[in-house]
Amino acid sequence: MGERFQVRDRFAVGAQFIGGRLRAGTSGRGQDVVNPATGEVIHTYALAGTADVDDAVAAALAAFPGWAGATPGERSDALHRFASVLAERADDFAYAESLQCGKPVKLTTEFDVPGTVDNAAFFAGAARHLEGVSAGEYSADHTSYVRREPIGVVGSVAPWNYPLQMAAWKILPAVAAGNTIVLKPAEITPFTSVMFAQAAQEAGLPDGVINIVSGAGPDAGEHLVGHPDVVMTSFTGSTGVGRRVAEIATATVTRLHLELGGKAPFLVFDDADIEAAVQGAVAGSLINSGQDCTAATRAYVQRPLYEAFVSGVAELMETVRLGDPFDPSTDLGPLISHAHRDRVAGFVDRARGYARVVTGGSAPGGDLAAGAYYRPTLVTGAAQDSEIVQSEIFGPVLAVLPFDSDDEGIRLANDTPYGLAASVWSRDVYRTGRATREIKAGCVWVNDHIPIISEMPHGGYKASGYGKDMSSYSFEEYTQVKHVMYDNTAEPRKDWHRTVFGDRP
Ligand code: NAD
Repeated sequence: MGERFQVRDRFAVGAQFIGGRLRAGTSGRGQDVVNPATGEVIHTYALAGTADVDDAVAAALAAFPGWAGATPGERSDALHRFASVLAERADDFAYAESLQCGKPVKLTTEFDVPGTVDNAAFFAGAARHLEGVSAGEYSADHTSYVRREPIGVVGSVAPWNYPLQMAAWKILPAVAAGNTIVLKPAEITPFTSVMFAQAAQEAGLPDGVINIVSGAGPDAGEHLVGHPDVVMTSFTGSTGVGRRVAEIATATVTRLHLELGGKAPFLVFDDADIEAAVQGAVAGSLINSGQDCTAATRAYVQRPLYEAFVSGVAELMETVRLGDPFDPSTDLGPLISHAHRDRVAGFVDRARGYARVVTGGSAPGGDLAAGAYYRPTLVTGAAQDSEIVQSEIFGPVLAVLPFDSDDEGIRLANDTPYGLAASVWSRDVYRTGRATREIKAGCVWVNDHIPIISEMPHGGYKASGYGKDMSSYSFEEYTQVKHVMYDNTAEPRKDWHRTVFGDRP
């Protein structure tokens, strides 16, 4: 890791990036950013208030005509340069993301940052493919074509679990399509979103195209979503807050994109490769300390493999190394905060009344006692309708349940309000084919769980929301479609006029 920058110096001026300038928020309230691995306050900054949101939206509105009027090639060039600047700053981003989130540095250097650079490169390419699908004479007397146009100022609200990648997923398709944007990161993890916008400025994107307001949800967030000059809201976060955002956006008739919570099932049929399923379950449930909306949270294992799966997962979970996020050998960092760790522990403690905690279920002591750590946890014996199986825990906790018939396994996999992601494990193409068709989720993996790629869409079914991040599908969401229709006859009196006045000519 290169020379580490000092967060306090870097954000001494403030953690708002508005109209190309770093500045302090004017809410009158300070926000501590805490290193969850140690509990230490690493910086305190002034939160954005509603006036800062107004300034950011005004900056985005002023930048819109110029950016929307740039050719696709010009936007693409700028985004290619942006991808290069992000790659050059990889160490800085990985360090800051690990510091504010407690993520192991091997995760930030091998997943968060390269994924972000690849996203920028993908949308640099996509910027040149903004095209309508129809053009021609669909009526004998007219020529029609479709224009895809940018919408205007987008307001985005993002969560704390992948702050850099969420900034990338929200900002890149929006600006590639010619929009300008104001993004509100989670107030406890503002740094890499601001750095992302600064890197864009360095790459030559005009001031005002990307603005960051680091503020609290109920004031800065709601003000942004309801702002009259914001024409689209793109929200990633919990289903509960998503409902509130939808209420506000409905009142202002704002286009809405919601990426919400998840409770991904992990369905293991009795012909699966058990070793692959065990390894996949541990990796898929513990990534980012389980604070991943697609993390495996409910494993359903067909009866013949159940005992071997439970003992294999427990054994492997016990080898996972909790530790200092900056130690390259650390597998698992802390949770995002002590409050969140206690919330996760609460789910597990309540489950002890109706289920068995096979391994984990506690915070480590010793050197890690000051951090928000929680051990990898495996729970068995819970009923399908229990809290631990139905609710989003967002921690390193996997519940395992047995099933008998394929029908039952698929039914259980679909039996929560969520539908973001799922995986199926089997060597039988007909079983996996049926499961991938019948599971109601925006992504179904076969014999793997977690990988994402820039070219493929990410987004939910059911209470996990609607709309897609990444891929050309997300790019299209940040445009509006216009039908342009030309008269080809040059006749003053058109044939269809008779339906309004006079007789057939
Ligand atoms: P959260 O819903 O508490 O907060 C998300 C964002 O909304 C934050 O920036 C927060 O400040 C803001 N916010 C809070 N109240 C608001 C309000 N009234 N109006 C406007 N904004 C408001 O979520 P979180 O705890 O930060 O993140 C974890 C959640 O995010 C989990 O539910 C997880 O599944 C979800 N998530 C979903 C995806 C996905 O792609 N579907 C990706 C990552 C995280």
